Amino acid sequence: MSTEVKTTTCYMCACRCGIRVHLRDGEVRYIEGNPAHPLNKGVICAKGASGIMKQKSPARLTRPLRRKAGAERGAGAFEPISWDEAFAMLEKRLAAMRATDPKKFALFTGRDQMQALTGLFARQFGTPNYAAHGGFCSVNMAAGLIYTIGGSFWEFGGPDLERAKLFVMLGTAEDHHSNPLKIAISKFKRDGGRFISVNPVRTGYSAIADEWVPIRPGTDGALLLALNHELIAQGLYDREFVARYTNGGQLVVTDPASARHGLLAVDEDVEPDNPLYPQNQLWWDRHSGRAVLSHTPGADPRLFGSYRLADGTRVQPAFQLLAERVQPHTPEWAEGITGIPAATIRRLAHEMGVTARDEKIELPIAWTDCWGNEHQTVTGNPVAFHAMRGLAAHSNGFQTVRALGILMSLLGTIDRPGGFRHKAPFPRAIPPSAKTPTGPEGVQPGKPLAGLALGWPGSPEDLFVDADGKPVRIDKGFSWEYPLSVHGLMHNVITNAWRGDPYRLDTLMIFMANMAWNSTMNTDEVRRMLNDKGADGEYRIPFLVVCDAFQSEMTAFADLVLPDTTYLERHDVMSMLDRPISEFDGPVDSVRIPVVPPKGECKPFQEVLIELASRLKLPAFVDAGGARKYRDYPDFIVRHETEPGSGIGFLAGWRGADGSKALLGEPNPRQWEMYEKNNCVFRYELAPSYRYMRNWNRGYMEWAQRMRLRRYGEPILVHLYSEVLQKFRLAAQGKWPGRRPPPELAQRVATHFDPLPFYSAPLETLATDLEKYPLAAITQRPMAMYHSWDSQNAWLRQIHAHNYLFVNPRTAQDAGIADGAWMWVESQWGKVRCMGRHSEAVEPGTVWTWNAIGKSPGAWALAPDANEFTKGFILNHLISDTLPGDTSNSDPVTGQAGWYDVRVRIYPQ
Ligand code: SF4
Repeated sequence: MSTEVKTTTCYMCACRCGIRVHLRDGEVRYIEGNPAHPLNKGVICAKGASGIMKQKSPARLTRPLRRKAGAERGAGAFEPISWDEAFAMLEKRLAAMRATDPKKFALFTGRDQMQALTGLFARQFGTPNYAAHGGFCSVNMAAGLIYTIGGSFWEFGGPDLERAKLFVMLGTAEDHHSNPLKIAISKFKRDGGRFISVNPVRTGYSAIADEWVPIRPGTDGALLLALNHELIAQGLYDREFVARYTNGGQLVVTDPASARHGLLAVDEDVEPDNPLYPQNQLWWDRHSGRAVLSHTPGADPRLFGSYRLADGTRVQPAFQLLAERVQPHTPEWAEGITGIPAATIRRLAHEMGVTARDEKIELPIAWTDCWGNEHQTVTGNPVAFHAMRGLAAHSNGFQTVRALGILMSLLGTIDRPGGFRHKAPFPRAIPPSAKTPTGPEGVQPGKPLAGLALGWPGSPEDLFVDADGKPVRIDKGFSWEYPLSVHGLMHNVITNAWRGDPYRLDTLMIFMANMAWNSTMNTDEVRRMLNDKGADGEYRIPFLVVCDAFQSEMTAFADLVLPDTTYLERHDVMSMLDRPISEFDGPVDSVRIPVVPPKGECKPFQEVLIELASRLKLPAFVDAGGARKYRDYPDFIVRHETEPGSGIGFLAGWRGADGSKALLGEPNPRQWEMYEKNNCVFRYELAPSYRYMRNWNRGYMEWAQRMRLRRYGEPILVHLYSEVLQKFRLAAQGKWPGRRPPPELAQRVATHFDPLPFYSAPLETLATDLEKYPLAAITQRPMAMYHSWDSQNAWLRQIHAHNYLFVNPRTAQDAGIADGAWMWVESQWGKVRCMGRHSEAVEPGTVWTWNAIGKSPGAWALAPDANEFTKGFILNHLISDTLPGDTSNSDPVTGQAGWYDVRVRIYPQ
């Protein structure tokens, strides 16, 4: 008998904790948290400890499968084929598309951690039709904050609970950042911090909050506007922070007759060094009483008032406009929308403002700002926030998240101790400089895409549309329908491809995304579309390739199934080019190293992509003579550089020929070994003076540019006022000199591209008879399961094998539903039978359930009478991806799926 312990990185959820896997005779026997890992410090959760049962699951796919000739899709009738056959089939099909029309191929992925590779593959192939799951998950959280503060929560940044005194969590149940957040909250509470949770439901983290503030789903924007109103009305905002580190003091042209109406006033005589991020805006200096260049030494901007420039142009500080915007949004106004008493809102605002003002932290760390001012200390205003999908997954979520970014900024908490702190490679410029192509000419047969498939538009000129303003992408991303869809719109793909709107696909490749079940909004319709044939008898989506480790609901619809490995059987990288595990104090990346061999004929999806890219001779994967460049995925990780000689690869640690360089350096053939010896993690600690105020920290900026983490070094002022949004609005109003939206979308763009945050009810609320469907219905992820991943896990199924609809006892009694009884929950789109459970931990206007517990019979190799089929249910049956008027049920700014917006009624069975 031989025993050994190997270290790798967990992937039972997206958190990426370090684990130690105990093996006996090569078989996984026990998994524990790795105490030497910086992220989880030895902590492991139920999911992580249950990885062993993933290896033993009867639902594993172990051989490539082809749909049997004559069998219908969805019937699950497959025949095994060899990898050679599978690759030959794909090579032929993909080569033909690439040579003629690369956009006929689409690659959409789920909650994978290899987007730097999948994105590179798609770009090299030449298709714009690529995205991961973000548009369905929390793109509003990413875009709303990145377009405001240059960073966001989760992989991009987070609450500094080490030093915070007050912690406010909004719309978060059991988060992505699971173990680290639990560790941090536990310490924060033991140290006497106060924790407030704003959420319709009191579960997960909210269950241990000092105060639970129940809120109606989709109304957080109103609460946040009222909090901003109170901070300004009570003078509790951090004036110095707002004046120097946001664009609040910059002057906005407020002259409807001017071509620059709503844009920032600039000094025309100052030639911007970098036209992408010009630094020629103006302040109204309160010392000299005139307009001066922003951040002129000795000047101090007026935040309020109305002024005239020398040429007579009327201007106002952006902060004045913000104050005017939130002026009517009193706590009383918000009470009617959110259900939170006005007195509570007023008290919360006061507590936040006073804590930020009176409990300041001064760290003895000297630093120099981007304008050359030397500071002897770093100041912290110790109010920290965390928010996630509860704010994001609404069709009004982008502006809600903007309002949150502004609240955090008014309190002066951005990249400061005790507040919000960035994680490398953030902060990014606003908006980041990565762009997609801007027209159909960016997609050419036989060539890589002329830009990234996903980017960050800064103006209408950056949209990815044709001369008529029509979308180039299958999901209509970066079109006038969803201009800032920075994560794509996975939830639109099947519907659009089925409709042929904007065109038909040939091949849709899906990787670990259960798009026939929980990763789609209208489950029943999507399943019908996947099976639907045109008049010619051919499937409307001709060829479906599904790569997954398990037999999910999606695999049954595949024409070709590619068996992936589990996380214990493969190499992986959590890369600085993608979403690393960086800490507040510096860049950190990590890897997975196989601890057991792949089961059966399973092959990591990365190897599939490397093989296909080599066969198709995609330029980044072959040498000048067209010969294959990389032996396999580990070889690719070590030797690939973003550009020849750039010194930047997927991994930042132990670079250089002898492994002595960090972040930047030539490839190191022994890089994997070095990660293996170091708990699969590489950490880089920033110099203390580079750890805070990074949006405006000259030393950090210069270092980050040297390390190629940042392209440009301009300061990143917080956008209290979003000139980017105003440019789109001007286009919609016919006042922008460049591109304009099609007439039918002009009003929608003009409304939603408001440079200041505003509250509007979610689109679905506006399209619902609220008398008939009075309740909001939402889902949450349980602590013991991640999406649908664990339905086949024998241990975790003992915790959740079916779910209930949780209903406030008052609401349930009004509806005549007994605790534990069968009942119906119905929306305007459909109804589903479920079991109800009375719960005081939900506000009376909301019902909720765990996500993705109910399963489709036949999937996941479960027994025919499994509880998941007989008692479980998913809410997605009640949700639609399309609203009346044929509009997508998505945020008009980012395309975020509004799947927390559904309204329902309940009644006994
Ligand atoms: S939190 Fe996620 S990554 Fe960490 S141990 Fe649990 S399942 Fe694994």
